[in-house]
Amino acid sequence: MLAMQQQFRQQERRQAVDPRHLLASLRAHATGLPNDDVFASMLATWYSGGGALPRCLGLSDPQFGALLQRHFPGFVPPTRDDGDDLELERAPERDDLLALMVDNRAGNDPSEEWMAAIVVAGCMGNDHLWQDLGLWSRAELTALMERNFPALAARNDRNMKWKKFLYKQLCNGEGVYVCRAPSCEVCADFDHCFGEER
Ligand code: SF4
Repeated sequence: MLAMQQQFRQQERRQAVDPRHLLASLRAHATGLPNDDVFASMLATWYSGGGALPRCLGLSDPQFGALLQRHFPGFVPPTRDDGDDLELERAPERDDLLALMVDNRAGNDPSEEWMAAIVVAGCMGNDHLWQDLGLWSRAELTALMERNFPALAARNDRNMKWKKFLYKQLCNGEGVYVCRAPSCEVCADFDHCFGEER
């Protein structure tokens, strides 16, 4: 009997951090607001230890709590390690990216500001942006960009990799961060910026 109870508890713990189980639970609590779907994907991955997002997805504690309350009221999060804090030395880079995102937000929904901060936190990771954000496909990221930052998304008319695209916008403004050539056509890094993102 005791062995069965332990087995049951172990199964419950495994299910609690299974991203598919978490995703289903988050979706069951979703309020039907814009961005519920992508926040659910990110949170399911983050709670199960995937992706590259830091503590609270890169939000402050109050922002993170407000996001859960607004989009998934009643959802009982599993316990997990807090995760890494954002690296202090990259704060200026994050500030530049955040200004870019916030300046280009659609202005339709309060969650766009949280989304901007989360996308910027994802840019600090080492993989493709959709993977670092804990999304389940690149298409989710493209839809997120088009919904929350439509003017910015429209500028990516050559289907550039999203992280490279965002940094390229900073290069266009101030010539910093990634670009070593005056134009993409003559740049040795062309394939890194425009290759497939999967
Ligand atoms: S291809 Fe070269 S110039 Fe174009 S965005 Fe990439 S690094 Fe910058």
